[in-house]
Amino acid sequence: MPPIPAWIQRKRLIIPISVTLLSMVALVLTQAKEHSLWIQDSVVATSDGTLPKQPVCPAPATPDPLLGARTRKPGRWVGTAPLAKEVPIVVMAGHADSQGMNSAGTPGFAVGVNKQAPMDARMRDELYWNLKVQAAVVLLGKARALNISSYNPPALTIRTDNHPKTNWSQARVRSAKGEYILEIHFDAYSPYGFGSGLIPAINRPLNTIDESLGKAFGRFPRLFRGGLGGPRRGISILEIGMLEPPLEQNLRNPNTQRQTIDCLALRVVDALEQGVNRSPDGGGNGPQGLDPQTNPADG
Ligand SMILES: [Zn+2]
Repeated sequence: MPPIPAWIQRKRLIIPISVTLLSMVALVLTQAKEHSLWIQDSVVATSDGTLPKQPVCPAPATPDPLLGARTRKPGRWVGTAPLAKEVPIVVMAGHADSQGMNSAGTPGFAVGVNKQAPMDARMRDELYWNLKVQAAVVLLGKARALNISSYNPPALTIRTDNHPKTNWSQARVRSAKGEYILEIHFDAYSPYGFGSGLIPAINRPLNTIDESLGKAFGRFPRLFRGGLGGPRRGISILEIGMLEPPLEQNLRNPNTQRQTIDCLALRVVDALEQGVNRSPDGGGNGPQGLDPQTNPADG
């Protein structure tokens, strides 16, 4: 038998190595595919309105990593009127019936300054995010056994303020019955916005939910801008934060959107829960024992 040429010997060695390499590459590719499928699955699993079991949310801080700046126009009111645990809480989306009108809400930094496309052409971006947060708050609130529901007007534009289906009209009727009306808003971007905070209703005594939301989000003066239409009708306006980066980016980025909305909802629901569980003397008394109804610090 003639000696085996060196090039064939080399080839025999090379073939098994190539086969091994190929199967390793195939294995890695398969795993990568499985991994990306798994990521897609988990996105699908949380975008159908269900909340992730344990969202990892940034803790409140100054400046706040989730909300951005607290209002630069703070009020000093305190809410002490006690509320029953089962008080009905109605969550509304700000500007839900005023699209195409002067009071349509902020377009946000992305649309207003960067000229990006709106999230939904039928509405200002603020309403788009108000609706998302509203839905998440009600979902989580129900899971926490709060007596909570949402109200949404039947049309995006209702030109008559006193139409019985507007947020304002519904708030006036429901507030008179003792329900707590919370309207979700995002504040304008800088330099027009003020930051996050609660503008409490002014048609009733300030209560323990006003107090816990004020603690969690900050406090606007009780008579902000001379008393807005909503608060006069029993609406507590919650400015979640300014609709600008990084909050707006986190909302617009599909990879962080669900998490951001859920974390915002968690902040709101935690505060609502504290608001209905506290006793009247559970820390609600003001720093100087001021009567919240006559607090001269308003405005
Ligand atoms: Zn608004």
